[in-house]
Amino acid sequence: MMDSEVAQLHWQYHLLSSIEVGIVVLDNEFKVEVWNQFMENHSDLLPGTICGTSLFAHFPEIDEKWFRAKADPVFTLESPVFLIWEQRPYLFKFGSNRPITSESEFMYQNVTMFPLTSPSGKVEKICLMIYDVTDQAMSKQRAERLNEELKIMSRVDGLTGLYNRRYWQERFDMIFKLAKRRDKAVSAMMLDIDHFKKVNDTYGHQAGDKVIQTLAQVITQSVRETDLAGRYGGEEFAIVLTDTDANNARIVAERIRSAAEATKVQHEGNTITFTVSIGLSEYGSHCQSALGWLEMADQALYDAKVSGRNQIITKNTPD
Ligand code: GH3
Ligand code: MG
Ligand code: MG
Repeated sequence: MMDSEVAQLHWQYHLLSSIEVGIVVLDNEFKVEVWNQFMENHSDLLPGTICGTSLFAHFPEIDEKWFRAKADPVFTLESPVFLIWEQRPYLFKFGSNRPITSESEFMYQNVTMFPLTSPSGKVEKICLMIYDVTDQAMSKQRAERLNEELKIMSRVDGLTGLYNRRYWQERFDMIFKLAKRRDKAVSAMMLDIDHFKKVNDTYGHQAGDKVIQTLAQVITQSVRETDLAGRYGGEEFAIVLTDTDANNARIVAERIRSAAEATKVQHEGNTITFTVSIGLSEYGSHCQSALGWLEMADQALYDAKVSGRNQIITKNTPD
């Protein structure tokens, strides 16, 4: 070998060692022929230990049958194969590069496998390139989590934690469509705080907010998890009671009405009490639309207001 060739080999070897990508060459029996510095650093296996032995002997996490099936087209069709972290987080179970700062305890990897043809044109070896994509995977997962949180936030009313009007309405429309097909009773409830302006005028807007929050808790505690409770307006709430006919809806409404009446809200040394009026309407075939059904509950609420407040009125038939 000429001096210049040795020099070239030397820097090529140097390149192979310093590159931040894992390089592995396997022969057609999956014995390791090349194991670069990256692989050595992350596996703690020296090239001298692993070269000449089967890859599978050292990495029990690699499912041999699966890997052979993946590598097969590289040998036979001479086409590259890509393994991506979204489908399988890693090929080699390496610890994360930065275990302290990273949220992941292992290294996410993308792997490319491509054929190495011999001078005769036959594919006798394949090369694997292992890329550390932990940062990419982490940021994608963070973005997904954030999206999920945003989605929840966009459905929930900030003051009460109940569903906001827009989302409640969306779900109510679905429930209406389902009610038409289902043979189960379902009732809608509208609720409004009595003389709430007086609370605001007497104790201030913040005290009013506290009353709204407290009532939201009373409602949450009085209904089932499968019921749909939303803040419909300022101090107005809408609730769907699933699998509940008018009689049972009345029992739930009475539970809320009496709990609200018994609730004392403390604010800056004042004890605030309040009452609520409730309108109910059970779904029936006469309900032409979701809105029509809700309007009946709203009319019942109006009737409860004009007949003296702090009471429940049911309206199951249109005028
Ligand atoms: P009624 O018994 O007829 O319901 O009397 P009301 O005084 O409660 O009348 P109405 O329901 O029309 O008034 C609602 C008031 O609630 C008007 C508004 O100033 C107040 N309000 C609406 N949203 C909020 C809110 O988020 N916080 C507070 N503190 N007050 C609100
Ligand atoms: Mg009111
Ligand atoms: Mg109101």
